[in-house]
Amino acid sequence: MNDVCIILFGAAGFDKAAQGLAGAGRRLAVELGGSLRAVVVGEGAQALAPEVARVADEVTVADQPGLAEYQPETCLTALAELCGTRRPRAVLLAGDTYSQETAPRLAHRLGGSAAGDCVEVRVAPGGMVRVSRQVYGGKAQAVLELKRSPAVVWLRARSFTPAPARAEAGAVTRAALNVRPDTRARVVERGREESGEARLEEARVIVSGGRGIGGPEPFESELKPLAELLGAQLAASRAACDAGWVPPTWQVGQTGKKVTPELYLAVAITGASQHMAGISEAKTIAAINTDPDAPIFKHCRFGIVEDYRKVVPLLREKLSALMK
Ligand SMILES: Cc1cc2nc3c(=O)[nH]c(=O)nc-3n(C[C@H](O)[C@H](O)[C@H](O)COP(=O)(O)OP(=O)(O)OC[C@H]3O[C@@H](n4cnc5c(N)ncnc54)[C@H](O)[C@@H]3O)c2cc1C
Repeated sequence: MNDVCIILFGAAGFDKAAQGLAGAGRRLAVELGGSLRAVVVGEGAQALAPEVARVADEVTVADQPGLAEYQPETCLTALAELCGTRRPRAVLLAGDTYSQETAPRLAHRLGGSAAGDCVEVRVAPGGMVRVSRQVYGGKAQAVLELKRSPAVVWLRARSFTPAPARAEAGAVTRAALNVRPDTRARVVERGREESGEARLEEARVIVSGGRGIGGPEPFESELKPLAELLGAQLAASRAACDAGWVPPTWQVGQTGKKVTPELYLAVAITGASQHMAGISEAKTIAAINTDPDAPIFKHCRFGIVEDYRKVVPLLREKLSALMK
């Protein structure tokens, strides 16, 4: 079959990442000459289905009690059953943690090939699914052709344009599944982030702090007010997260979030390659650092060599004046 199947987790809603996922799925389906099918799984799936049906040909809702709360093994078995029966050529997922965790394992279950963090998905001249992803902190692009079918790929958020709405909505059906709980690996505790802010991957402006900030207090007293003025979200380097100054969910980089803002302001961040791997798609990078030789200055468009404790209050003052 030349169909493309996209997988969405109901709890995430039809956010920009999901819309981009549907866009990538539609374009690939057109290239393959197949249709675009969506599987919406877990809590919130039923509510999400009509929105997804505006851009997909078919939507399957899988929100049985055993799937309402994400449990990795149970969810994987259900998805393997739902995606496997129709033998799609490609299965695409977004870049959230559930998707990143699910994609390679789903590829294994379906006997397919897996690739992650992709910024392009096309059909190669020979008919194989071809993906691109950034390597070496965005200095180069790796192009991979996925030999086995289906190609199971998770995509970097905000790297794909949304799919246009269709004149006629796709059919929505509820999955006929006999969900068997599998507790070999089990989520034992769940915590919700306090802030009601949008996801970091979708932020247009980010103010990010590193180890040079010196502790948790300046994130609150210096960076937060600056972020509020800029309408920005806060983020951090791994060093600041590992120190316990800010939540681990703020981490940007190779082992953290990949972000694509219009402006990324790196404050007291050295610019290690692992950090840069998370911001290679930022449109504009600006940096404040006391060390003129800090690697971040090789990557940024605007840089200030100075103690952030002098610069940040000045920036706040100027921005406040501009906004009056
Ligand atoms: C496998 C692996 C994966 C990794 N993944 C990630 C990742 O996902 N994300 C990530 O960030 N890192 C990651 N790292 C860690 C990475 O290598 C760096 O150690 C880390 O990014 C350093 O964080 P930092 O720049 O905040 O700290 P530092 O390297 O300690 O730099 C602090 C900077 O602050 C500056 N500074 C100090 N005081 C001030 C001041 N008052 N005003 C202005 N500037 C000041 C200093 O000049 C310095 O440049 C990973 C490492 C490995 C090995």
